[in-house]
Amino acid sequence: MKISVIGTGYVGLVTGTCLAETGNEVVCVDIDEDKVNRMRSGEVPIYEPHLDVLFERNIEAKRLTFTTSLEEGLAHGAIIFLALPTPEGEDGSADLSYVLGVAEQIGKTIKEYKVIVDKSTVPVGTAEKVRQVIGLHANCDFDVVSNPEFLREGFAVDDFLKPERIIIGSSSTRATALMEKLYKPFVRSGNPILIMDEKSAELTKYAANAFLATKITFMNEIANYCEKVGADVDKVRIGMGTDSRIGKRFLFPGIGYGGSCFPKDVKALHKSGSEENYEFKILDAVINVNSRQKKALLPKINSFFSHNLKGKTFAIWGLAFKPETDDIREAPALDIIEELLKSGAQIQAFDPEAMDNVTKQYGDQITLVKSMYDALQEADALVICTEWSIFRTPDFSRIKEALNTPVLFDGRNLYDTSDVEKEGFSYFSIGRKDII
Ligand code: NAD
Repeated sequence: MKISVIGTGYVGLVTGTCLAETGNEVVCVDIDEDKVNRMRSGEVPIYEPHLDVLFERNIEAKRLTFTTSLEEGLAHGAIIFLALPTPEGEDGSADLSYVLGVAEQIGKTIKEYKVIVDKSTVPVGTAEKVRQVIGLHANCDFDVVSNPEFLREGFAVDDFLKPERIIIGSSSTRATALMEKLYKPFVRSGNPILIMDEKSAELTKYAANAFLATKITFMNEIANYCEKVGADVDKVRIGMGTDSRIGKRFLFPGIGYGGSCFPKDVKALHKSGSEENYEFKILDAVINVNSRQKKALLPKINSFFSHNLKGKTFAIWGLAFKPETDDIREAPALDIIEELLKSGAQIQAFDPEAMDNVTKQYGDQITLVKSMYDALQEADALVICTEWSIFRTPDFSRIKEALNTPVLFDGRNLYDTSDVEKEGFSYFSIGRKDII
């Protein structure tokens, strides 16, 4: 099939590449000229495991091409995917200007039947808005489908190729049949393609993200309470997680959720509720608890250094909002760094993939180094913000030798407290006994 994907970020590029992998001819459109030029010259502009191999193979087979021309993209595809940003607007609602702006251009451009597929995460009612905007200008038939994306950054290719479910929100049998045909190769193991109305499809995505954010946040509150009463959150977590109604996943406490999805999606759902005079009290709590949790290590750091961080140097391990991505949007590491800088401290940071993005945002405000051990040189403490695997079994004697003070602040509970104690460190983590 001929497919166009508008917007080649984490979702669009993975969607385009994986659809090319199953034999479709895909044209990817992006307004970022530099990005398009880099992709044309064979460079994958984001870090996403396994994407490079598929990307290269499909470019070589001429099934995957890139353009800045929306007109060209719209002329090519029978199915047009919108993988555009829906960032947080000033009032917390999802900013639909990218989606509706492109919808208007689609209306003005298309000359034959097209299926417009919304892959961006959008509030209930957006498919209807997109239909209205296109319909104002279009002189041909078209359908709008809601097809929310559930891929996780860091596992995006696997998630796209083997999705647990595909959701298609559409009232058009013609569009639904095309979508089912397109996705058939991805559900050979029997995972479902769920067909539903557009509004339910749109809400499914928000409900899923809000639920996951709530699960993490609940566990963070339990962890904070563990610290008050001397319980160990790791034991509580395992004890709870063995109950199959709860499940083991998403119960790890830490310094809060970040990323380009959970924070904005929770806020957008909360705002959508208030627009209908419905107060999502649980989401209100999730938003507040998470912003507090992102700074959970700071009181521990301040208290250890007697509230005087001026002139201290902090080694930071991990800048991405989670492992296996270079994405730093709403990353808890950034909240911690900003507070430390405000207190007059210096930062020496390392992340396996996210340093280019941090440089773009912070310039020379912080020092970025080439290895996890380089970050420790002459530093007064190590702060761990992202649970990259390479941080899990470090050489503790090397850490101790390099640091001015043998103290670890671990926002991801990477180590057994007793192991770190034996190594002679002071160790502060989340929901467990502090080793002073
Ligand atoms: P992104 O910011 O990584 O990418 C968006 C891309 O769209 C950028 O390359 C940008 O240059 C391009 N763009 C902006 N305006 C354009 C225009 N008018 N024409 C063409 N291109 C344009 O965003 P993302 O992370 O891929 O997210 C896209 C959507 O998917 C969002 O709604 C997001 O909530 C949702 N989503 C994201 C993830 C994720 O893990 N990142 C997962 C599921 C759903």
